[in-house]
Amino acid sequence: MKLKKLEMTLQRLAGFSRPRAALEQYQTPAPLAARLLYHALMKGDIAGRSVTDLGSGTGMLAIGAALLGAETVIGVEIDENAVEVAAANAGLLNAEVRFIIGDVKDPSLASRICPCDTVIMNPPFGAQNIHADRPFIDLALSCAPVVYSIFNAGSIQFVTSYTRGRATVDEKIGSTFPIKRTFAFHSRDVQEIGVEIVRLKRIT
Ligand code: SAH
Repeated sequence: MKLKKLEMTLQRLAGFSRPRAALEQYQTPAPLAARLLYHALMKGDIAGRSVTDLGSGTGMLAIGAALLGAETVIGVEIDENAVEVAAANAGLLNAEVRFIIGDVKDPSLASRICPCDTVIMNPPFGAQNIHADRPFIDLALSCAPVVYSIFNAGSIQFVTSYTRGRATVDEKIGSTFPIKRTFAFHSRDVQEIGVEIVRLKRIT
């Protein structure tokens, strides 16, 4: 599947039915998801691999990985309403994904989902709960030797220092994340924020 086709296919996925601000539920925009996934595919990290999406939300990344030929895909999500949306989305595109309701902070989760070849994720940026992304990074690196994640452009320095000794920031791809008006505190119809798609390579 070509990049453009993947992007158009992912555009069809439904969004959060009842988005929760505290969980920073923003659906990953299809063009951004497609970019991350296609890049990972070219690096050999998707096709034939076991892939896990942490904070899978509506399933955008997990479903995309399945469509690109991942061997197995697991999506982990704390909110059961989101898992319902994701399961329906996977059904719509005939994608095979196992969605698990779970909290990345739960220490027993690793035994259910690890190890895997590749973690993909768009964790909360920590705008509502400071450092909300840390348990995502910790679990991702304990599960997989390669992690693709979307971070707020301003937090790359933090990511680099937080993962020092455990992983290297192998690649960074700058992009934008158009955030549509979703919550009462949003003052504009769309706000574009700068993001980086980061490839973390675990130091083994
Ligand atoms: N890629 C997803 C959205 C990511 S938004 C999509 O396109 O739909 C971040 C997601 O992480 C949200 O769905 C949120 O509910 C989930 N989340 C937040 N905290 C979590 C936690 N502690 N454990 C698991 N999931 C969590």
